[in-house]
This record gives sequence, structure tokens and C-alpha cells, in this order.
Amino acid sequence: MQRLQNYISGQFSDPLSKSWLDVENPATGQNYGQCPDSDAADIDTAVRAAQSAFPLWNSLGAQKRSALLMKVADILEKRTDEFAAAESSDQGKPLRLAKSMDIARAVENFRFFATRLHHLEEKSVKSGEHVFHYIERNPVGVVGLITPWNLPLYLLTWKIAPAIAFGNTVVCKPSELTPLTAFMLCDVLHQAGIPGGVVNMVFGRGPTAGQALVEHKKVKAISFTGGTETGAHLATTAAPLFKKVSLELGGKNPNIVFADADLSKAIATTVRSSFLNQGEICLCGSRIYVHNSILEEFLDGFIAQTRNFKVGDPTHPDSRMGALVSAAHLEKVDSYVKLAVADGGRVLHGGKRAQLPAPFNSGHFYEPTILIHVPHDSRAIQEEIFGPVVTVTAFESEDEVVRLANEPEYGLAASIWTENISRAHRVARAVEAGVVWVNGWLLRDLRVPFGGMKSSGLGREGGDWSYDFYTEAKDICIQLSGFEK
Ligand code: NAD
Repeated sequence: MQRLQNYISGQFSDPLSKSWLDVENPATGQNYGQCPDSDAADIDTAVRAAQSAFPLWNSLGAQKRSALLMKVADILEKRTDEFAAAESSDQGKPLRLAKSMDIARAVENFRFFATRLHHLEEKSVKSGEHVFHYIERNPVGVVGLITPWNLPLYLLTWKIAPAIAFGNTVVCKPSELTPLTAFMLCDVLHQAGIPGGVVNMVFGRGPTAGQALVEHKKVKAISFTGGTETGAHLATTAAPLFKKVSLELGGKNPNIVFADADLSKAIATTVRSSFLNQGEICLCGSRIYVHNSILEEFLDGFIAQTRNFKVGDPTHPDSRMGALVSAAHLEKVDSYVKLAVADGGRVLHGGKRAQLPAPFNSGHFYEPTILIHVPHDSRAIQEEIFGPVVTVTAFESEDEVVRLANEPEYGLAASIWTENISRAHRVARAVEAGVVWVNGWLLRDLRVPFGGMKSSGLGREGGDWSYDFYTEAKDICIQLSGFEK
């Protein structure tokens, strides 16, 4: 059994709480170890460490910080296989996906923000003959980073890399369900020479360790990725403390297929956007809207290709889906399928646990599930399921589908499939979402803003938007003297 430790001031340590949480491999349902169940005292120690490290780290300057981040990327890249195996066994996802997506993108997060440091420019404004302003940007200070279990290392590094690149020090609270790669990352940071206290990792539960981090007065900003309900609670805690808050929350993303779409491309991508990572990606397209005239053709292809999207041993190269993250999450996913059926929906594919032979017979596997005829006001259509479950709804007109797409409270992402460029622009503009893909899905670029509208979040990160969030802008105004007549 492996026992993970907190990483504070560059040292691994047991939690002051002396409490531990079991962590399991979701594919076998067996515990592989324990992680700290830290409390407010552990968080306080980590925040103090981050405060002490801040002056040195900030004064190091952009070039030196950039070089250190590059080293982190290089070491992580060299250890891709080891990290991918850990991510897969901790989260349940296919090993090949962990390798090609999670770890590759974690490496890219460090490289991108390391190079970003070489290209920062500030504005200056001349506002009178002898008066000018220049904008200075300084790091916020100690930043709290709270992350979920679906893309553990990828999302954690999406926050650590910009935060420390721009001169902040951080206290991270990764998901208690998937702590393994966060723990391993501490060793990489140490090897790369990131000074102790710059990145502190505290493991524990949300309502205890997470809450203490948000409440801590010396933590100036919180970047949070997780559920909408948690985000709302967090915002209420942070608001009276006047912290900067970035919230990346849930989604219920529409995937709209018009009659003139390139259907073979739309179907192949829709299988991935529905079921990649077991549907546990906030950007998955869980509501599929198909024009009435092509519904049958779409369903034939979609169901056939879903059959080939094999659920199995996450380490097997043929497996396209692994296990859901926990038994509780599987129960939640299944309850939404039952609800959809009770509301009048019909299961076209899946709709139940996937039974696998030992040692996976106690794992949390669920079949990729396609539902049709679910009434639009059903909670299965309006609420986030965050699993391998999609609904298919037929539509007649562009206006109708835009109205349906915008009905749920979420506004994270959308996909539109059409060969008509004017329609693509019209619908992309009308759909309420932070990112809209036309004839594609999950095409990411770290330079563009990422975030959601409505209940999917607050603020944007990525490129300049991360720079904005992790720094404070200051206007310095200079009036020149000696020009008086
Ligand atoms: P969650 O909200 O339950 O937990 C997220 C993190 O918050 C965990 O580390 C948890 O311990 C912590 N937490 C819980 N209660 C807290 C509290 N009171 N104070 C501070 N921290 C607290 O979410 P989850 O189940 O881990 O993740 C799934 C959710 O994340 C889904 O809704 C998904 O859509 C969302 N998500 C969003 C994005 C995005 O970029 N918008 C990306 C990935 C996942």
C-alpha cells in the first residue's frame, strides 16, 4: 500500500491532522493506498510556506522562472510512461489516452507558459503633454488552486504553470479521488530546481482542506475547476474576502448536426465527444441535436461506431473507455439513465453497467449509452451527468435548435456541424457557450480564452487571460516637471 504525503516548503510530510483517506483504482475497485486527509492547520502551514517563498520567487525574474518551467516540462516529458500509468490506474481512463492527452498536455502547459514569459508587453499611455501612464503588472501573491478528478494532472498544471510563471507562489488542493500524479509532480518540481515553497501540495477533502484554503486570508486568489454547486459555495465564501476568483464549472454541451453536415466526420467525432474519457470531460457534447431529415442515417452510423468504442481493461491498447472514477459516480450516472427512461426516454445503446472479467469485475465500468425521446424538460437533459450518456433530440429549424441548445443553465461549450458558413457564424453567435467548435471538437490552443457562461463559470483563463488573472494591473502615472513656463 502506498502512502502519499503533502509537499510543503519543498519537503514531503505527513498531515498534521494525522488522518488519511483511502484511494482506489476504479478499474479494480481495490484501494491502492492512502492520501492525507489534511485540515485547516495543514493548509495554514502551506500558505505560510508559500508566503515565505514569494519574495525570492518573484524577484528571480521572468527569464530564470521560464528556464525552470522548461526543466519541469522536460523531466515530465521524459517520465510520460510512468505518469500515464499512474493517471490511468488512479482515474480509470485508458492508458493510451492518459499518455496522448493528459500527460502530453500537462507538459505543454509548462512549455507554453514558460515561453509566454518572453513575450509579455505592457501598455503606456500619454494623457497630456507632460503626463504619461505606464501599466505595471505584479503577481497576486499566494494563490489557491483547487482541481477535480477527471483530468487530474492536466487541469492542475493548467493552473500551476501560469500561476508560478507570472511570479506567484501556490497552494494546491487536488481532488481527493485522484491524488497520485499530483504527488508525483512534486518530485519533478524538486528535481527541476523549483525552490521549496513555490508549489505546495496539500491533499484532503473539499469541505475541510479546500474550504480552509478558500477562507485563508493570506490567499489572494482562487482558481477553481469543479462542479457548479461547489463553485457557487466557493464564490460565496470568497466574495466578502475580496479574493480574485476564477471558476471553471460544469457543462451540458449541445452538439448540433445540421442536414448539410459532413455526416461521416460528424458521426466519428460525435462518438469521441460523447464517450472520450468515459464522458468525464467537461467539454463532452452530452446533448446531440440532429436535423429530422438525417436522424435515421445519423443514428445508424452513431450506434454502429459506438459499438466499436470498446469498454475494457484501461491498460489494453484496444480499450476506448475505462472505468468511471468511483462507485458513487457510477450510481449517479445510472440514476440519470433511469430517470430519463422514467420520463419517457428510450435506450438505444448501453444503459447499464459493463460487466468485465476479473480483476475488473468490481470496477466501475458503464456502457456507452445513447438515449432518445427524452422530454426536453427532463433533468437528464437539463442537468450535467458527466458520464458516458448522451441524449439525441431531433429538430426541424435553426431557431428551434438554438432555443433548445440554450435552455439548460449551463454555457460551457458547443459543437456545430454544417457546411454552410453563414449558418455556422449565425448559430455560433447565438449559442450561449464559452467555446464553440464548427465541424470539430476539443481543438484546444492555449492562447485563446477558456471558460464558461451562465452556470458554467466565471472569468476566462488561457494566454493573456491567465496573465490577467494571475497578476494585478497597476497604473503608474508620471507628471514630468521642469516644463512650466
Ligand atoms: P467537485 O466540485 O466535487 O470538486 C472539485 C474540487 O473542489 C475537489 O478538489 C474538491 O475536493 C474541492 N471541493 C469540494 N468542496 C469544496 C469546498 N467547500 N471548498 C473548496 N473546495 C472544495 O467537482 P468534481 O466532482 O471533482 O469534478 C467534476 C466537475 O468538474 C464536473 O461538474 C465538471 O464539469 C467540472 N469540470 C469543469 C471543467 C471546466 O474547465 N469548466 C473541467 C473539468 C471538470
